[in-house]
Order: sequence, then structure tokens, then C-alpha cells
Amino acid sequence: MSEEQTVSLVDVLEEDEELEEEASAVLAGSDSDHCSYPQGYVKRQALYACNTCTPKGGEAAGVCLACSYKCHEGHDLFELYTKRNFRCDCGNRKFSELQCKLYTEKEEVNSLNKYSHNFFGVYCTCGRPYPDPDDQVEDEMIQCVVCEDWLHGRHLGCLVPDCVELQEMICESCMNKNPFLWTYAAHLAVPGAAVQVKEETGTDKSNTNLPKKEEKPSCKRSREEAEPSCRLKELDAIGKKRVQSGAVFWPSAWRSRLCSCNACKESLSEVGLSFLLDESDTVLAYENKGKSNEQGQQRHDPLMSALDNLNRVQQLEIIHGYNDMKTELKDFLQRFAAEGKVVTPDDIRQFFEEQQSRKRQRVDAGRFYCT
Ligand SMILES: [Zn+2]
Ligand SMILES: [Zn+2]
Ligand SMILES: [Zn+2]
Ligand SMILES: [Zn+2]
Ligand SMILES: [Zn+2]
Ligand SMILES: [Zn+2]
Repeated sequence: MSEEQTVSLVDVLEEDEELEEEASAVLAGSDSDHCSYPQGYVKRQALYACNTCTPKGGEAAGVCLACSYKCHEGHDLFELYTKRNFRCDCGNRKFSELQCKLYTEKEEVNSLNKYSHNFFGVYCTCGRPYPDPDDQVEDEMIQCVVCEDWLHGRHLGCLVPDCVELQEMICESCMNKNPFLWTYAAHLAVPGAAVQVKEETGTDKSNTNLPKKEEKPSCKRSREEAEPSCRLKELDAIGKKRVQSGAVFWPSAWRSRLCSCNACKESLSEVGLSFLLDESDTVLAYENKGKSNEQGQQRHDPLMSALDNLNRVQQLEIIHGYNDMKTELKDFLQRFAAEGKVVTPDDIRQFFEEQQSRKRQRVDAGRFYCT
């Protein structure tokens, strides 16, 4: 091992701060120093809910990455990963005592924010926490791109395809609320069959609304204007069907294949789904933005390059468990300090691999096949 590849423990501990910055970069450069409130409803940002300040039973609230660090340090936080169109609530009327340390000129509430049970630390149609101490089944959580809830693989009502991290998922409830999506699903979605996993039958089925006529985009072609024809209408006319139950997985770039004729745009806007026509709304695009923001900064720190070498699933898992991971990493490094040993990039890599292999087992065990 060459000189450059070794690093003293002191260096590593000093660079712990940089590790934090790197995680922020994976979080697409969400600012870890400044409250995002002045930016308004941010297109997509990392969000947290504070169980200490706004516990279950009260009003839901979400805070930005910087506020999670600076205003809620030591609090019991739920990591919500990223959500779209949200404005930081930290210190507003929903917080009885806490004042935001970063930005105080806030309105009482942010009326356009959307909240879900995620803000109280429960997920999926089964409404369980994650990780769930009472759940012995190994399973992965997948986020619906429409409602942004996280669902257990086994509660999707469909087979979970391979390479799931490169695809987008729309849950059954969101599919049924927007029936035109079934038309697209028949043509664009990852082929898959609904499975008879119906543990939750009877609980939430009332939410899977029957298709509403008026939600169906009516793409009338004007005779006067030479408007391009409506792709959705064409697909509808083909009449290809697929089983209309269970969640649907969509391949990368599927959004670019949606019809963007004026009528479709209008219909999507009416049901709050305009973001589906926006490729830069995807989590993947968001993460790539974060990575490119980081470019140009120095990268020879072994902790940084170790994180770089992880695949996307590992990075996501690290973000989910970031706070735990940081504590464990510190413990890990303390052992080297106690033994007076030098930490090498391989040690760091091994640390991450050991951390992730546990989680990967959980993911693999929950994966089914769908071809
Ligand atoms: Zn904030
Ligand atoms: Zn708090
Ligand atoms: Zn704050
Ligand atoms: Zn579930
Ligand atoms: Zn959904
Ligand atoms: Zn159209």
C-alpha cells in the first residue's frame, strides 16, 4: 500500500465533517447550513419529521435538512428521504416551543405542503414503522413516485422486478385514482403480473377509488389547428389491456413517453400530476444533480472515495441509516485509535460492506422475480 493510500486516524476523524457533506451531496446538495424556507416550495428536498417536537396526535410537520441538524439535534427524527414541493415548517405555528435557529420569518403554516402518515414515522398500506422491530419478514421499502409513501415490497400486490432502483413505482391506490395511468401501463410499464398477496385486503380498499370519468384526459383534436395527435388517445384506441391491480413499475425514461399534448397537460395539471412530464422530477435526476454539484471539489479523501465506490442502492441505504451509520463509523474508528493503527481505504470499504451486507440480505430475501 502506497503512502498516499494510507491516512492517519486523526485525518479521518477530522474529515468526518466532510463525510457529512458527502452524504448531503448524495442528497442532491440539500443545503446542510441554511434553512430552505426562503426558497419556498422546493421542487425536491430531503425532509425530516421530528417526533420530539411534533409527535403523533398533533399536526404533522416537516423540516429541511439544515434544520434537522441545527434546530433538532438530539431529537427523535424520522427520515422522510425526499419529497417534492415542500416548504420547511421548522419553528412555525405547529411547533409550540421550538424556534427555528436558521430562519425566523416564517408564515404560520405552509398551506400547500402535503402530509402523510410518513410524518409520524409510519409507512405503507400496513401503517408500520421502518425499521419495524416487530416485523421478522425481510423486505425492502419502495417509494411511490405519486403519493411518495414508502411501501413494503410484499404489500405492493405485484411482483417486484429486478433492478428496482432504476425504475419508478406507482402504488395501486395512486393507479386507481388516476385510471388513465392503466392505459399507459399496458404499453409502457415493466411487464408484471399481480400476485395474490392480499394480507391487507379489506383495510384500505375503500381508498382505491373507482375510475372517475372526468379524470380521463380528453384529447380532442382541433380541426383548425394542426395540433399533433394525442398519444394517450392512440394508446386507448389500441385497447391493449393488462391486469389492473397491484402497483406498477415503470422503466427509466418512461415519463418522456407520456403524451404532452395540451389536453393531456391540462388533465395532468388538474389532478396534480404535472410532475410526471418532468424528467428532472425523478429521484434519479435529483441525485445526479447532487453528484454533479459535487464535481470540481477535491475527492482524494479515502472516506469520500469509499462512498463513491458504493452502488446506488448502498448509497440510498446509507442515507436512510445515515445517523446510525455515523455513530457506528465513529465506533469503528475508535477501535483503530485504541490500537494505534492506521486506517486505510480498504478498512473503510470493509466497514461499509459489512454494514450493507446485513441490509442487502434483507433486500434480497424480499425480492421476487418478474420477467
Ligand atoms: Zn428549515
Ligand atoms: Zn425537534
Ligand atoms: Zn430550523
Ligand atoms: Zn407494508
Ligand atoms: Zn402512491
Ligand atoms: Zn394527449
